[in-house]
Order: sequence, then C-alpha cells, then structure tokens
Amino acid sequence: MDTLRAGVIAVQGDVTEHADAIERAADAHGVDADIVEIRSAGLVPDCDVLLMPGGESTTISRLLEREGIDGEIQAHVAAEKPVLATCAGLIVASQDAKDDRVQTLDILDVTVDRNAFGRQVDSFEAPLDVAGLDSPFPAVFIRAPLIDEGDDDVEVLAEWDGNPVAVRDGPVVGTSFHPELTADSRIHDLAFFDELEVEVEA
Ligand code: GLN
Repeated sequence: MDTLRAGVIAVQGDVTEHADAIERAADAHGVDADIVEIRSAGLVPDCDVLLMPGGESTTISRLLEREGIDGEIQAHVAAEKPVLATCAGLIVASQDAKDDRVQTLDILDVTVDRNAFGRQVDSFEAPLDVAGLDSPFPAVFIRAPLIDEGDDDVEVLAEWDGNPVAVRDGPVVGTSFHPELTADSRIHDLAFFDELEVEVEA
C-alpha cells in the first residue's frame, strides 16, 4: 500500500475529525495515510498534503507566524502540493481577511469576511451541491466566513445563498463549512486525490 503523508495543522482547532476523514478518503484509494500533527516548524516539508482546520483564525495565524510554519505552508503551495483549508483555515489561507489581527498566508486568491454568516445565524447544516459530486454534501457551517471576492483563476465549487462557500485555486481547496464533521469524506477526496473514489453511504 502506498503511504500519503498528511499534515494537519494542529496549533489550534479541530484535528481528530480531519485525520479520520483523510484516512477514510485515502483508504478508498488503497492508500495508507500517515497523519502528522503540525505544531512546530520542520514537519511541513515532508508532507504530501496539508490540512488547515477550523478554530479561531486570529489565534491560528499568530501561532503559525510565531512557530515559523507560515512560510513552510507557502512553500508547500508553491511546490503545487495540495492543501484543504476549512473555515478558520480558509480565512488564514486567504489573500485578505479584512482584519488586522489575521496575518493571511495569501495562498488562495480570495478575500473573506470573518463571521459573516454568524451575524445572521450562528450555525446551520445545509445540503450543498458541489461541483464534481453527484449528490449534495451535508455542509455544517459554524460562524462561517463569507468568500466575497476571488480572482478569475479561482474556481467556485459550491455556492450557498448566492455566495461561494467552496473554491479551488490551483492546489488549494477552501471551504467556509466544516467537511470533517460528517461521515462524508468526499471533500477530502476532492481536495487530495485526482479521481474521486469515496462513495456516499445510502
Ligand atoms: N469565526 C472563526 C474565525 O474567524 C472561524 C470559525 C470556525 O472555524 N468554525 O476564526
């Protein structure tokens, strides 16, 4: 069995659920996932794929900078290696979060509005049509950011209420919602593998 070394940024936020989702997606491809929890510099360069989970974007960005992990993530993307950035991870990955407390990594050519959905409703689940998936994805939104502007090279994978909530920019996939909070690992499949293999349970 091949091994996929998957780094989950673990300075703060939800780690275990993402590790489980990566393992399920990898398994469908006959690949073993070696999960590396990243809290310090020096580990990212050995990872094949990276995951930037939700949590609190101000804290995550500060810790990435303090630990010197920020530049390593940018180098990973420059090498065209896949990243899945979810919720607060998407905020940190963006070009601009319109908030001085978040040092964005600018690996995903979009601007975001933190907590935009949260102002209306704190959290909700919605069936989402996602490009490339043949049935709706159960998307869980928790104080989710709104993606409001993107460069032309950014592909919109899903919209909710007229706004993009899942996008792809080269090797980076970003979602406003939390794809790790359901048993459905198709978003991880979509981000990390070229051919989709994960089946949805009926
Ligand atoms: N609103 C949070 C932030 O700005 C993100 C919420 C989440 O990741 N669930 O960082």
